[in-house]
Amino acid sequence: MHDVRDPLRRVGSDVIDAAGFKFLANVTAIRQLESRGLSASAVTDIVLTHCDTDHVGGLSDFPNARVHLASEEKENLDSGNPRYTRHQFSHGPNWQTYSENDSDFLGLPSRRIDTIADVDIRLVPLFGHTNGHCGVAICDNGASVLHIGDAYYLRDELTNENHPISELATLRADNNQLRMESLDKLRQLISRDGVDLTYFGYHDITELPESVPMLEDVA
Ligand SMILES: [Zn+2]
Repeated sequence: MHDVRDPLRRVGSDVIDAAGFKFLANVTAIRQLESRGLSASAVTDIVLTHCDTDHVGGLSDFPNARVHLASEEKENLDSGNPRYTRHQFSHGPNWQTYSENDSDFLGLPSRRIDTIADVDIRLVPLFGHTNGHCGVAICDNGASVLHIGDAYYLRDELTNENHPISELATLRADNNQLRMESLDKLRQLISRDGVDLTYFGYHDITELPESVPMLEDVA
């Protein structure tokens, strides 16, 4: 809601124009939770894939939540990397960082997240898009859900190594070699047999369930 109320100061016209961001109160995380009867104070833990502008805009609506992320990503943020938007962190998030791979997620190294909920949540390092970019996995009785964040922009990149969007992905990558290795890890992961895995990225609208309204409908 802070970004929605003051996008020019918080995000800046350069980033807004480049990415085409829309600022609509109804699609903010906090408004969506409230429409389901949950208040901001009910949110105790937030797990970040990375700190890019379009992934952290809602953080300041949950000032009391613990914010979990890879230590590499926090270091990247603290290093002054110009890709991040400082105002979005000015409220002082309660950071919890993780540096050790302590578990295995379907063949990939992972880091267990310590939340107050009794849920097996992991960071799955998929570095490259940013230096500390991770997928976020939820494991439940053999079935797993993996939010792959921006490890791909479009799902088609998994099957098309020369997808035109790769040009933008390369431009945006902190480390393009690592980004391509992470894509390969995902290709191996989804080709494993006998695995109950649901996965999705952040930017591909074809992955949204039909029940999710399009922006024009919300606006
Ligand atoms: Zn990103």
